[in-house]
Amino acid sequence: MARPAPILPASINPSDFTVATIGSHSALQILKGAKDEGMRTLVICKEGAERPYRSYPVADEILTIPDWSAWDEKLEEELIKRNAIIIPHGSFIAYMGHERVKQMQVMYYGTKEILEWESDRKKERIWMEKAGLQLPKVFEKPEDINCPVIVKFHGAGGGFGYFVVKTPEQFYEVKNRKYPEQNDFVLQQYIVGVPLYIHYFYSPLTKELEIMSFDKRYESNADSIGRIRAEDQLSANIHTSYTIVGNIPVVVRESLLPHMFEMGDRIVETSHECCDKGLFGPFCLETIITRKLEIFVFEISARIVAGTNPFVEGSPYTALKYKEPMSTGRRIARDIKQAIEAGRLEEVLG
Ligand code: AMP
Ligand code: AMP
Repeated sequence: MARPAPILPASINPSDFTVATIGSHSALQILKGAKDEGMRTLVICKEGAERPYRSYPVADEILTIPDWSAWDEKLEEELIKRNAIIIPHGSFIAYMGHERVKQMQVMYYGTKEILEWESDRKKERIWMEKAGLQLPKVFEKPEDINCPVIVKFHGAGGGFGYFVVKTPEQFYEVKNRKYPEQNDFVLQQYIVGVPLYIHYFYSPLTKELEIMSFDKRYESNADSIGRIRAEDQLSANIHTSYTIVGNIPVVVRESLLPHMFEMGDRIVETSHECCDKGLFGPFCLETIITRKLEIFVFEISARIVAGTNPFVEGSPYTALKYKEPMSTGRRIARDIKQAIEAGRLEEVLG
């Protein structure tokens, strides 16, 4: 049976609260941002992974657990005692899983229900279609493949194991050789263009959509294959993979911005058809932009993405809007701080 949710602290003083997250992904940025907003910070680390959080002094407190499976009621009670507000990020969701996140009693920034929409490829597509975004075609079965497609197995962590084929025969050749046991995959039209990740922030308090920054990813081995000539690629029989290694900042052609703002607006508007509270806080549209400047969206992340990490000191875009260096992590903390001070904390919790 679910435990009754704890009563929200009545304080309107941000220093009575602690911004908390788990140690990986974008934790350094999130914690630094919270400290810059004058809040207390805490990081939960897997034993052996504390070093960065000791070396960079962004966490007021470090809690360690032997393994993510050891996340239990006792740990949650410790967090609740400190009025901790958890900030979810990619690794948090990957390690905890949606079901455990839903059961958590500790305060949580963002809408939990929206995670179900972003993690279920079918639901995610319904949402993006409602928002009128341009999407890559999806093929129901391998026999339908009639153009280059990217094959994504369910749960492929960080783009590992994706491959590109252009006929049903090629598909079965790779699948049967490398992934004979796996039958949960999507076949998405492979869009030729440049990948671009758009980092948005929507505050339920100000009701304003902001574009915080952009990144492109540094992926192994997709970003290194071009370093050898085509003949060598063929003779080495290299299959492209997209294992994420890091993130590179991008500034976009300015005339693309109006459309990008509209895309973000529509995702926020239609999120209210997915769940009551809708989407708020940081989110990202993962796109490929073609030579005709069409923007295809292949995924949405309904939380902070690690592509915001290069902008700990703000981005060329936040510099236009804020007097102080504004990272996405700091923007989250500011939303929380303003909500606490206005007695509206509940509005930013899921
Ligand atoms: P990690 O904690 O680094 O093992 O990452 C857990 C998950 O978060 C990975 O499977 C990735 O999908 C995602 N992730 C981690 N770091 C990044 C990054 N720099 N850019 C994009 N995604 C990331
Ligand atoms: P993901 O793990 O879904 O973020 O995707 C990893 C990488 O695969 C992206 O950075 C893109 O380079 C590539 N990718 C994903 N979907 C497509 C697509 N439909 N067309 C072309 N490239 C894609």
